[in-house]
Amino acid sequence: MKILDRNEDVHQFRDDILTLSGEDASSCVQCGKCTGSCPIALEMDLKPSQVLRHIQLNSRKTVLECSTIWLCASCETCSSRCPEKIEIATIMDTLRKMAIEEGLATGQKQVVDFDRIFLDSIKRHGRVHELGLVMRYNMASREPLKDVHLGPLMLGKGKISLLAHKIRERTTVKEIFRQSRRFLGK
Ligand code: SF4
Ligand code: SF4
Repeated sequence: MKILDRNEDVHQFRDDILTLSGEDASSCVQCGKCTGSCPIALEMDLKPSQVLRHIQLNSRKTVLECSTIWLCASCETCSSRCPEKIEIATIMDTLRKMAIEEGLATGQKQVVDFDRIFLDSIKRHGRVHELGLVMRYNMASREPLKDVHLGPLMLGKGKISLLAHKIRERTTVKEIFRQSRRFLGK
């Protein structure tokens, strides 16, 4: 008879994150400095320190379905304050990718759409083309005319442009995206 190994999968979530990001959530001592310094913590359903705790507890679904990972602005304030030197912003980024890949970002469709379109714009042009971003996002949200009245005003003030400004080193940016896919094993 097979004896159940209670530790068999108990660290699976933490280990997956470690493999993908190089960050070990088990180092977290729950000091709360990340939560205390996060400018968006008040809006989050799980505070950054709670995300780390849930990772330690192998609560994969709870973490990958929370709004926190999509609200995180990657400002890295938490990372700079962490006494254990955990790159929390990197973990958040990894969690976003995992949530998409595992189909658990369904409650955050608008944020996921924005994330995808934003990154695609950078991949193509080397920087964001704001007008293209807004148009594609509006189409994805099925609100093609949303804020359309602001377009002429912003064009007139030079805040957005009709054509994308492409950077010279676009091949370098594309290579970064290619390396990222390889890193994530895609
Ligand atoms: S990187 Fe994200 S979690 Fe960390 S302080 Fe900034 S917004 Fe908060
Ligand atoms: S600052 Fe670092 S050690 Fe403290 S709770 Fe946040 S992740 Fe854990």
